[in-house]
Amino acid sequence: MFSTLRLVCSSISILSMLAVTAAADTRREIQFPDIPGFKTIICDFHTHTVFSDGLVWPTVRMDEAWREGIDAIAVTDHIEYQPHSDYVSTDHNASYEVARPAAQRNKIMLIKGTEITRGTPPGHFNAVFIKDVDPIDTGEFLDAVGAAMKQGGFVFWNHPGWKGPELGRWQEVHQTLYDKKWLGGVEVLNGTSYYPLAHEWCLEKGLAMLGNSDFHQPSMHKRTETGDHRALTLVFAEEFTQDAIQDALNAARTAAWDQNRIIGREEHLAPLFNASIQVFAPHHKDGGSLWIEMKNNSHLTYELKRTGDIGPESITLEADASIIVRLESVERNAEITLEYTAENVLIAPNKGLPVTLTIPKQP
Ligand SMILES: [Zn+2]
Ligand SMILES: [Zn+2]
Repeated sequence: MFSTLRLVCSSISILSMLAVTAAADTRREIQFPDIPGFKTIICDFHTHTVFSDGLVWPTVRMDEAWREGIDAIAVTDHIEYQPHSDYVSTDHNASYEVARPAAQRNKIMLIKGTEITRGTPPGHFNAVFIKDVDPIDTGEFLDAVGAAMKQGGFVFWNHPGWKGPELGRWQEVHQTLYDKKWLGGVEVLNGTSYYPLAHEWCLEKGLAMLGNSDFHQPSMHKRTETGDHRALTLVFAEEFTQDAIQDALNAARTAAWDQNRIIGREEHLAPLFNASIQVFAPHHKDGGSLWIEMKNNSHLTYELKRTGDIGPESITLEADASIIVRLESVERNAEITLEYTAENVLIAPNKGLPVTLTIPKQP
């Protein structure tokens, strides 16, 4: 009996030694090319855990981030709303402390953050790149934001069209934050909601555009289709570090991405498109027609509509895929340029990105 038990025990210890070789799940990479001078970093600056009104333990957020190809994430539990306080600690720094070892194991940059949660106006604001949430837990709204700034934080306005009779209009308090240089950005996307007014403010006022999940549920709660992804922020940073991400936010070098739509500024989205799309020299000709391969090296499907005279009326450049386009009645052995608008790349509300596809001469 004793020897049988020993045999079982030693088998278990061998099994557990073998089991540690697989540390994390498979990661599905999000492919976006870098743009000249900057690395493209995939970020989610707004998530919740059981330490406020979220429904997952902080380490689960780090596992989700790894699996979904995210590079940097902030856990931003509400300061003023802790509905699980009968069962879970009300320590405002706890979710970061619990998540940190998992972030390190999963090679995720974990940004310390919190959500300052007030009625409208002012509404909800995230403070990220902070050091300690406790001093931000203070009565006066402006004192709370001031405390975050004093720690070197970056503050942005969350889901600006969320509620209240003013429905996300720019109020005096927002102007005060802006004048103090305390407001660095606005969520133009929160989950699947797009705020065109916020897009305009960001363009006018030089603010960073953010797109964040604001997840409370587990990430895959509502999404079943492959290719689905949470709302995310693409950050164009000089280096792959937290400091460089914060510098990029301060310089408003960001774009917001949900499903098959990307929202930002022309100065970033034009180079992103150009870095994503390769157009090859014609590989075949027959009569008056030329056949040309075009390849999309990004995770976004580009929906193009013709604005010039040459080319098909519309072209869909699917994510991570190539297509062959046939051109008729064009002059051969010359460089050909096709003028289009990328309709799902918004450089202002209702304004797609103008793009040019340049077909090199046949070798
Ligand atoms: Zn909120
Ligand atoms: Zn939130």
